[in-house]
Amino acid sequence: MDSSSSQTPREKLEAWLRYCEDLNLGAFYTDRRIMGKRSIKSVAAKTALAPIAIPPAASAPSTPVVASPRTAPVASALPIVSPASLFEASDRVENDSLERIREDLGDCTRCRLSKQRNKIVYGSGNARAELVFVGEGPGHDEDVQGLPFVGRAGKLLTQMIEAMGLQREDVYICNVVKCRPPENRKPENDEVATCSPYLFRQLDVIGPKAIVCLGATAAQALLKTTDSISRFRGTWFDYRGTKLMATYHPAYLLRNPAAKSEVWKDLQEVMALLGLKSKKT
Ligand code: SF4
Repeated sequence: MDSSSSQTPREKLEAWLRYCEDLNLGAFYTDRRIMGKRSIKSVAAKTALAPIAIPPAASAPSTPVVASPRTAPVASALPIVSPASLFEASDRVENDSLERIREDLGDCTRCRLSKQRNKIVYGSGNARAELVFVGEGPGHDEDVQGLPFVGRAGKLLTQMIEAMGLQREDVYICNVVKCRPPENRKPENDEVATCSPYLFRQLDVIGPKAIVCLGATAAQALLKTTDSISRFRGTWFDYRGTKLMATYHPAYLLRNPAAKSEVWKDLQEVMALLGLKSKKT
């Protein structure tokens, strides 16, 4: 028969505490109320995130005064809505390459977008591009061909690139999510969170001088905001040391041609940064 069954509750508790002391777990039960408060505070202090320093939309767009997301916290015009991902919290991947990232991606089934996709749309273009365009995700044509921006919106993007005095082969084009969302719906937050680390690695490897986010999803994923793109398009931001400009997605321009002039203004800012001359008539 178990001798502990004859012990009083107090005796059992004392025996258990002695056992904890033998295991050097004394602090575990010394004062749980104080320990609890200390733990919460210290964890909060250790995990406090430095928000991305984003200048207010009212600041002059021609003055790209921006700070690195790794710098000290600065009041931001845009809300910081999510903590850094594990990828961002870690150092950049050593000896990374576009080929290695593609290998790591493999026949990815990390999120539900894998279920209905035809092809993963990894990205294409110049691996040493000074300019990278980032869209939201593949559409039907992209899903069939496995290439980004090859549908109607893609043709318009090609025209925009050429109007900037470049060819498609000069730039790199990719998306936040690499599989087509069903019915071209907006990617869910968890899908963006799962897929975007591969985009971050692509951007780190390419190391462009400028990133142009096409549409809200790309800008929101890189700037960690839920703000409407109309509030901050046309302004330079900093993304891990690279200038980032957000503008409207070509698909939006197909539906709202009047917005083309605003996009052209944004692209002219990019051209000025890269020293490009317009071929637009
Ligand atoms: S969207 Fe990205 S994370 Fe999701 S299955 Fe496709 S490649 Fe994988």
